[in-house]
Amino acid sequence: METYDVVILGGGNAGMGVTVATRAAGLSVAMIEPRDLGGTCPNRGCTPKKVLVAAAHALDEIERADRHAITVDRPRLDWRALIEREKELIRDIPSRLWGLMARRGVDVISGEAVFIGANAIRVNGREIEARNIVIATGSKPRPLPIPGAEHLTNSDDVLNDPELPRAVVFVGGGVIAFELGHVYARAGVDVTILEALPQLLGAFDADAVARIRGESERLGIGIRTLAWVKRIDKAGERLRVTFVADGVECAVDADRVVNCAGRVANVEGLDLGAGVIVHREGRIEIDDHLRSRSNPDIYVCGDAVWNSPQLSPVATYEGGIVGRNIVDGPKHRPNYAHIPASLYTIPALASVGLTEAKAREQGLRVKAHVNDMQDWLSARTYTETVAWSKIIVEETTDQIVGAHIVGHAGEELIHIFALAMKHGITAPQLAEMVYCFPTFSADIRNMM
Ligand SMILES: Cc1cc2nc3c(=O)[nH]c(=O)nc-3n(C[C@H](O)[C@H](O)[C@H](O)COP(=O)(O)OP(=O)(O)OC[C@H]3O[C@@H](n4cnc5c(N)ncnc54)[C@H](O)[C@@H]3O)c2cc1C
Repeated sequence: METYDVVILGGGNAGMGVTVATRAAGLSVAMIEPRDLGGTCPNRGCTPKKVLVAAAHALDEIERADRHAITVDRPRLDWRALIEREKELIRDIPSRLWGLMARRGVDVISGEAVFIGANAIRVNGREIEARNIVIATGSKPRPLPIPGAEHLTNSDDVLNDPELPRAVVFVGGGVIAFELGHVYARAGVDVTILEALPQLLGAFDADAVARIRGESERLGIGIRTLAWVKRIDKAGERLRVTFVADGVECAVDADRVVNCAGRVANVEGLDLGAGVIVHREGRIEIDDHLRSRSNPDIYVCGDAVWNSPQLSPVATYEGGIVGRNIVDGPKHRPNYAHIPASLYTIPALASVGLTEAKAREQGLRVKAHVNDMQDWLSARTYTETVAWSKIIVEETTDQIVGAHIVGHAGEELIHIFALAMKHGITAPQLAEMVYCFPTFSADIRNMM
């Protein structure tokens, strides 16, 4: 049996995050990774997706060119070349990360690990014991138990598909469906989003989501809520999705049907029982320090944590906390209150802190400052199709408890609000700032 101080299962953002403090403290660290180092974010998630989003942005700018008195021909997108550009941009990331891990003194082992004891794993026939083992194995699409599920594709397939389909159905109306749906719609694809729940994009403020829904429908995206997908059948060369909405059975045909019904922790194949790790259907029970409740030598971080936001900076942050807890003892706890999140539709929806509904549910006395900014000079200058914000401020303290922005460079502005919230800068103090003019940031003064 080989021994290490720390063995990390998974070489994504979370796993990488663990290596910083543990290696700085001189602990021996092994990282097990069956696929590409970097995991989902650079190889199959944020980065390749953003390449497609950037192209869709360019198409959006071209669509509005006439309002700047510019005449352009109808743009033509070479989808195959765009997918090649996406691949080219990320090609050398795993090898650069191998270099980084080598410089940091982490032993990377290629293979898939399983637990064989409370402090031991097996990978490629090697048995390794460690004082601490970290589960950083990420997430996978939630399996959809419906007839015809074998016809479903997922976001990995979309990011690898050199053929631009004519029509796509997304099953599930979450972040990935909206982001990829906007890209496809801008590329001329017929897009339908079917969501079983009454609300789309559940984690975001409902009024902000209403703006995104409106803009999505303006683009021609068909959206149905309370739509239960029953089955997927072959219909000649295409696929037929049968769903029930308002008690009526309906069908829609498409070339691709993408499973966007959420992602679940990828821990099924780890033999958690052998590691004495208690879980409920793959949801590992953890304490405030991200340790398994049943086996405190085992930590969990990133998307493998079932109830924290599935975001790459959160995975890195949690990995960092796990690394520090391994070195210092269980002292550090994650705090998710000021972590911003963006939905990269075009325009984007950016958000930090509480939604208005959550703030009121918590009994806070708040004022929601809601602004339709479309007739503000900055929005008119850039011919924005949507520009909207809601800033939620606690009445007694003037502290900002939530900010939600659609369009208006919100995915950048949101960091100013996150910074203010984290460091207790009040709404009047933020409004007092002298900003560059004319900028979108300067509008913060008038948003609350
Ligand atoms: C299409 C898409 C777009 C996204 N866009 C964004 C975005 O714009 N912004 C954002 O913040 N987040 C985004 N995310 C989410 C983000 O990618 C994840 O939150 C983040 O990558 C999670 O990091 P992780 O380290 O927890 O998991 P991962 O990066 O998934 O890493 C887990 C690693 O564990 C490995 N592994 C699995 N099983 C084993 C095993 N048995 N033994 C050893 N290793 C194993 C896997 O191969 C994988 O490399 C996106 C996700 C998707 C799918």
